[in-house]
Amino acid sequence: MESLFGDQDLFPADSGNNFADIILPVPIPRMFTYSIPYSMQPEINLGSRVIVQFGKKKVLTGIIGKVHNKPPQAYQAKPILEVLDEQPSVNPLQIRFWVWMAKYYFCHIGEVMHAALPSGLRLSSESKVQLNPNFDRETSKYPLDDREILILDVLESKPEISYEDCEKVLAIKSIHPILKSLVKKEAILIFEKVQEKYTPKVETRIRLNPEIAANKNALQTVFEAVATKAKQESILLKYLRDVPVMKLPKSNAYGVDKARLLEEGDSESSLKTLIKNEIFESFKVVVNRIPEEEPESEPASLSTSQQAAFEEIKQQFESKQSVLLHGVTGSGKTEIYIQMILEVLNSGSQVLLLLPEIALTTQIVSRLKKVFGSKMGVYHSKYSDNERVEVWNGVLSGRFSFVVGVRSSIFLPFDSLGLIIVDEEHESSYKQFDPAPRFQARDSAIMLAYFHQARTLLGSATPSFESYFNASQGKFGYVELTHRFGDASMPQFHLADLAADKRKNLLKLDTTRILREKIQDALAKQEQVLIFQNRRGYSPYIQCEDCGWTGQCVQCDVSLTYHQFSEELRCHYCGYKEKSPSSCPACGSTQLTTMGMGTERIEETLSLLFPEARIGRMDLDTTRNKHGYQRILDEFGAGNLDILVGTQMITKGLDFGRVTVVGIWDGDRILNFPDFRAGERAYQQITQVAGRAGRREAQGQVIVQTRDPETPIYAQVIKGDYFEFFNHEIHDRKKFYYPPFVKLVKITTRHTDYKVAEKAALNLHHGMAEIPVKKIVLGPEKGIIARIKNQYQYESLIKLDRASNTAVVFKEYLWKITEELKSRPEFRSVRFVVDVDPS
Ligand code: ADP
Ligand code: ZN
Ligand code: ZN
Repeated sequence: MESLFGDQDLFPADSGNNFADIILPVPIPRMFTYSIPYSMQPEINLGSRVIVQFGKKKVLTGIIGKVHNKPPQAYQAKPILEVLDEQPSVNPLQIRFWVWMAKYYFCHIGEVMHAALPSGLRLSSESKVQLNPNFDRETSKYPLDDREILILDVLESKPEISYEDCEKVLAIKSIHPILKSLVKKEAILIFEKVQEKYTPKVETRIRLNPEIAANKNALQTVFEAVATKAKQESILLKYLRDVPVMKLPKSNAYGVDKARLLEEGDSESSLKTLIKNEIFESFKVVVNRIPEEEPESEPASLSTSQQAAFEEIKQQFESKQSVLLHGVTGSGKTEIYIQMILEVLNSGSQVLLLLPEIALTTQIVSRLKKVFGSKMGVYHSKYSDNERVEVWNGVLSGRFSFVVGVRSSIFLPFDSLGLIIVDEEHESSYKQFDPAPRFQARDSAIMLAYFHQARTLLGSATPSFESYFNASQGKFGYVELTHRFGDASMPQFHLADLAADKRKNLLKLDTTRILREKIQDALAKQEQVLIFQNRRGYSPYIQCEDCGWTGQCVQCDVSLTYHQFSEELRCHYCGYKEKSPSSCPACGSTQLTTMGMGTERIEETLSLLFPEARIGRMDLDTTRNKHGYQRILDEFGAGNLDILVGTQMITKGLDFGRVTVVGIWDGDRILNFPDFRAGERAYQQITQVAGRAGRREAQGQVIVQTRDPETPIYAQVIKGDYFEFFNHEIHDRKKFYYPPFVKLVKITTRHTDYKVAEKAALNLHHGMAEIPVKKIVLGPEKGIIARIKNQYQYESLIKLDRASNTAVVFKEYLWKITEELKSRPEFRSVRFVVDVDPS
């Protein structure tokens, strides 16, 4: 309808929406209401990023969660300062997902936002320094010292610099006092500058002057002109190698990357001359950090049993939202995923493939890349902020309709998912421990799929009890693959009895005879060996033989691990480290011995036993940098290593055809999991690491070293009958009220004073006992590790009836109880860490 006032609409029809509720990345359990300046109203969309003032000083990036016309009751709404997005960065489905996650995992929506948005999409504020325009060195009444003068010199040539750059200039760490003194002397100003974290990648391109490119005769003339100037001619020729003459008029527009043009020792000055003479021109473009790549090969055709499984999965999806694909190690689950993905992409929907860890992704990602090229986005924690933003934006723009990623990729801005695949769905690394949201990515993926009306395919050789139980109840579909692909057979197991070998004097450097023999055999045949030990460092303990002293962390109640290479004692819980002592700090004795074996020491042991073998090691300490995993796996894949020693990083997903021997250094260690899941975990871990052996023609050999070969779990793993194992264990789970028969919530109460922590935990306990739902409340007990980073820990475990709203009601009450406790002055600094579905 035409407005009575023509263009000047004094009473806009949508004057309803004057306020927006904004999600901010702060740990406060609500959204915040801001007013929408009139000029911004047309730009305000649900899911757009905005900048707002928070508190007195802070400027934060927020997401619009709701628009409405209700002014806040308790305070005057501040205006939104700026709208960052023309198109929203976050869609309504995501906001729905965040709301669900905050409720389910008992945290704040701001914490979910913080986890979800790549930090490159948030603004950062940085302290900057500039000259005070009113300052004059000559007339200043304050004397300046050398370092101060140096800073002023630098500032004279630059309008502003960051704290960091100031530090670089002075090459010292503590710049604060010097800058403060300069502020006092009225020489400089310090201010906060808010800026986008994401910086696009800019490339300098060179192209021929379009008039020359469009005209063959002109080009000919140019050639004649440069014929005597060999360097200029070489640059021109190199340009035409990339932009062929025939296509010149059209492809010239994009030009050629300057760095590429100058690569082989060409002089920049020749290029400059060409530009000066208006033969070439230089311009800048924004380019993708993730380059375009074409697919290299067709997907493999499925074997008969793979094809049957594939059809079966599709058929089950007709009636079930989720299907569990239970396929033994080496059965070729990946090829089935590829077929599923192709089919869903062809139907126009998006696909997400979740992988538990980066170590695993390197091999599978390169396999998928071959089939999907750069239509596939990859999203993981070792990507830079900028790269992550480009994957995020690639999903938004439709460049990536298929993404492979670790658990945080469930937060990408998909708007029409058709399928989520969770590979190795039993993996405990799908659970985020810290910080909040403490979410289980597999379970969250099922919820996310539900919001999209999509399907979830869970794949594993050793399913989680939760998923297998759901399948046995008919809640999930279930499809099995019982044989390895091709002619590969399942590996053969050997239990190597450490105690027996010791009695018979067969033990050499903690290595059983059979393990030594099998390694020797493999080396002789130029086959490869994996050795698994779930302990990094040199040895778990260093102990005084005279008084029994062991190194303890000063901040945690755990012993320190000895790292030989760096000659340090380190805490694996808080990162504390100290130089390893040469004599006992308690009694002065020099008789210090190391006890137990970490990967570092095993590597050393093996190099003594097999001096001719090339040995590598893969653990947290050797893979800290971005390409650490890739480098080691490439070396191993290329056959430059004979033996690879590693922690759980080597147990998953790896597919190397020449690995025939897998040694499990200390099987008993795997069983010592302080939890009701010990059996499940041990079964999974041993089966998975064993599954790396003999994946082609030669049968694999798996050697498990143990002090107790009679432990029933070994027999069960060797038999490989998952169903029998499950039935045996599930019985205890039911009897003792554990998942999947109840829902667990674990609450850790933390404080630096153990008395305060204990009192708060007891108060919490009494509060919870009153909650009117069917439940069992255990604890509070001292944590398994009573103190971490100087915080005392008390743990309560709550077992909730599985009836659908028990947990919901429980959490509502729990919220009130913890808020009330935290409002008491004595508990103000107590932390209650709530972990829903702990694992
Ligand atoms: P899983 O993930 O089930 O342990 P993989 O998917 O790694 O097994 O497959 C095991 C090996 O068999 C891989 O080397 C894979 O390339 C090969 N493979 C599986 N299916 C096929 C197929 N249909 N055609 C060719 N090779 C296959
Ligand atoms: Zn001593
Ligand atoms: Zn510590």
